[in-house]
Amino acid sequence: NTPPGGDGVVVIGLGRFGGAVAESLVRLGHDVLGIDENAELVQSWADRLTHVVQADTTNSETLRRLGVQDFARAVVGIGTDIEASVLTVLALSELGIADIWAKALGPKHGRILERTGAHHVVYPEAAMGERVAHLVTGKMIDFIEFDDGFAIVKTRAPREAIGRTLGECALRSKYGVTVVGVKRPKADFTYAKPETRIEQGDLLIVSGPTRLVEAFAAIT
Ligand code: ADP
Repeated sequence: NTPPGGDGVVVIGLGRFGGAVAESLVRLGHDVLGIDENAELVQSWADRLTHVVQADTTNSETLRRLGVQDFARAVVGIGTDIEASVLTVLALSELGIADIWAKALGPKHGRILERTGAHHVVYPEAAMGERVAHLVTGKMIDFIEFDDGFAIVKTRAPREAIGRTLGECALRSKYGVTVVGVKRPKADFTYAKPETRIEQGDLLIVSGPTRLVEAFAAIT
């Protein structure tokens, strides 16, 4: 029994963050209702999103008039105006939206959003800052951490692995990490197998507990 909003998502606040969310959702094939109080901004999104509306979203009656209650999912991208962010999450919560995502500027803002009814709070600036810290040293080419202290990174192959197969290096027993893939320059990504031989210049996709993955990348 799909709700009338179907696979759609409401995105409120079409600034840098909300705009990027809305645009990606459309690319992934979802209907997006974008709402922002800024008329010019709404106009600029008109031909890129399924529907756009100019409105102040801090009031649940306004949201109801716009049919927001028919959607199962909403993303609140309002950040700078914390009061508007909190009141919007509260209004969505009052409408009974099943899955509310909200952007927080910092931990205190995030705590309020959780108390107000957000099911998921994201910290784009903090998360990106942490990612950049991992990348800036040049040891990791990419880094993704999951909530539970587990990470996947793309890193250079350690010297001890060059010319040997993954089976021979036994990186898992030595470092507690698992090589899941190998990327050779100018070649496609391949799944890691025990007989995969590592060559100079290969990049490894490595998963495991964050601390172990960090330690592994540091030796390369
Ligand atoms: P970003 O840093 O991602 O651009 P901002 O917090 O600066 O985020 O902008 C969020 C957007 O939210 C802005 O486009 C702003 O017009 C919109 N916005 C702020 N308050 C409200 C509100 N009460 N109702 C609807 N949209 C709002």
